[in-house]
Amino acid sequence: MESSENEGHSGTEAAARRRLAGLDRRDLMKGSVGIAATQVLGAEVKAAGTTRKIALEEHFTTPALAKRYVARPTRSDTLFADIERRLADFDQLRLETMDKGGIDLAVLSVTTPGVQAEADFAHLPMQDANAAAAELQRAVKELGFKGALINGQTNGYYLDADMYLPFWERVQDLGVPIYLHPGELVDHPAMFAGRPELNGAVWAWTVETGSHALRLVFGGTFTRFPKLKIILGHMGETLPFLLWRFDSRWQCELGEDLPPEMLPSAIIKRNFVITTSGVCDARALAEAIAALGEDNVMFSVDYPYEDTQTAAAFIESAPISEVVRAKVCYGNAVQLMGL
Ligand code: MN
Repeated sequence: MESSENEGHSGTEAAARRRLAGLDRRDLMKGSVGIAATQVLGAEVKAAGTTRKIALEEHFTTPALAKRYVARPTRSDTLFADIERRLADFDQLRLETMDKGGIDLAVLSVTTPGVQAEADFAHLPMQDANAAAAELQRAVKELGFKGALINGQTNGYYLDADMYLPFWERVQDLGVPIYLHPGELVDHPAMFAGRPELNGAVWAWTVETGSHALRLVFGGTFTRFPKLKIILGHMGETLPFLLWRFDSRWQCELGEDLPPEMLPSAIIKRNFVITTSGVCDARALAEAIAALGEDNVMFSVDYPYEDTQTAAAFIESAPISEVVRAKVCYGNAVQLMGL
């Protein structure tokens, strides 16, 4: 049974490899905020006994961008120096690390907080929805990008704002996913006062990005644009574990029962796909798959903030079937990005 299912899946892999055969493994596509698939699926890359993997939330910066890059996720100078070195590297370090983790293809995005303007890069100027829509179209149609990643709110505006309707319309027309990634909070709420360690990746980014996603769910974005696909990292920023409560409390607040397809849980299952970036926890993975379905969870690392080999070992050893492992590691990403 296992071998026949694997055979079925390898058909998808073979097709994807044929489509990507024209790319050199070091042939980086231009791009920052847009998602560029950057590494070809070379057979020589696959480590023995491992599942093929695509990783979607892998970050980079450039010398010009690094000047404006201020986020510092660690108090350790040594660790931060290594992160900076790895962010700016596209060859030796990155490829070695991918090879050791058995990762065939990495989808790169500029690390948070992102750039303001860079003439040679695809970048979505979220300050202007029409310009962002035009740039996304250029990135997808002319540069071959597979989607885009947005680092949270822009000047205090979240993506459910009416000003973004033209942007979402274009996203739906282009049929590409948008990765909603944590960014800096627009303010510093009292609940984090005196606890700076909570006001970042440890917790605040989860709250910020989870809330941003829920703004889209409750703000009607998916009623207007039902075909949108939003990717959330970090095992879904806790949303998969709260579906029952969203449905329960929302219907309580409304004072009426909603039709099944209008429930927050249904919208989240329909319009969101998550990655395992930064959460190497088999129990959380199992719960996320149970909540969202095996087609809606994808492997990622969050390189260079997380350790690639730890992430690879986690997904390789997770107690899931080989069929589901192949979907999470590879097949779902191929489907979503049309590789
Ligand atoms: Mn990240």
